[in-house]
Amino acid sequence: MANAVYVWGLARATGRRVVLRIEDHDRQRSRAVFDAALLEDLAWLGFAADTKPIRQSDDWAPYDAALDRLRVAGLVYACDCTRSTFAAWARESGRAWSGGGCPGGCRSRKLGERAGVGTRVALGDGAEDWDDQRLGPQREVPNREGDLLVRDRHGNWTYPFCVVVDDMRHEIDLVVRGEDLLDATARQVRLGRLLGREGPPAFYHHPLLRKPSGAKLSKSDGDSGVRDLRSRGLTAEDVLGEAAAAVGLLEGPRPLAAADVPKLFV
Ligand SMILES: [Zn+2]
Repeated sequence: MANAVYVWGLARATGRRVVLRIEDHDRQRSRAVFDAALLEDLAWLGFAADTKPIRQSDDWAPYDAALDRLRVAGLVYACDCTRSTFAAWARESGRAWSGGGCPGGCRSRKLGERAGVGTRVALGDGAEDWDDQRLGPQREVPNREGDLLVRDRHGNWTYPFCVVVDDMRHEIDLVVRGEDLLDATARQVRLGRLLGREGPPAFYHHPLLRKPSGAKLSKSDGDSGVRDLRSRGLTAEDVLGEAAAAVGLLEGPRPLAAADVPKLFV
C-alpha cells in the first residue's frame, strides 16, 4: 500500500495517468486469486486506475517481437547455466559472477535456443546514468551480475525484460516502485536503449513498508497488508495514514483520504 500511495500521489500531483499492469509473466507463480485480492484492496483504499488492468499473459506477442529485434542485432543467446552454475563459479573464484556473459561461456558455445534452456541478452559494457526523483542522479553498470536472463529454462519471460517492453509500449514516463528494485534499474535502462528507447523514463524508488517482524511485504504472495488491517476494523483512511507515516510522508499517523494523497507530493 506504500506503493499505491506513491504511485497515485505522484501521478495525480503531476497530472499523469495511472496504468495498472498485472505482472503475471511467470506462469508457474502467478495466481489469479492474488490479482483479484490486490485489485479489491486498491478499490477499498479509494484508488482507481485510468486503464483497465493490463495483463501480461493476455498477449505474449510484444515480448516475442522485442526479443526478435534483439536477436537480429546479434545480442541473444541460449544459456544452460543454472543457479548452481553461478554458485559453483562463485565458490571456485571467491566472488560472485560479474561482468558480461555467464559463467558457462554460453554465448560462444552457440547452444541454440530451445526448450529447457534459458535465453540471455548481451547487455554490453559501460555504465548507464539515470535520474531518480527521490535519490538523485544514479550511475551503475548494467551487467554487474552478468547478461540479462530474458526467458528462463521453463519458457517464462522474466520480470526485468517484460516491464521494459511494457513501459515502452504503454509510454510510461515515470516508473514508481520500491527501492529494492534500484539495483535492477541500470540493466533495464540499457535494455530499453537496445530496444530503441531514446532516453530512460524518470524513476522514483520509494522506501519499503515492512511487516512488524521486519520482513518485506511481498506482492507475489498476495500480501498487501491491507487485509490484516481491515480485519482489525481499521478504515481505509486509517490504513493510508499509517502507511504514509511509516514511509515518512506524514510526521505521524492520522486519517488520510485517497483524494488527499496527492497533496503529500506538492
Ligand atoms: Zn550460460
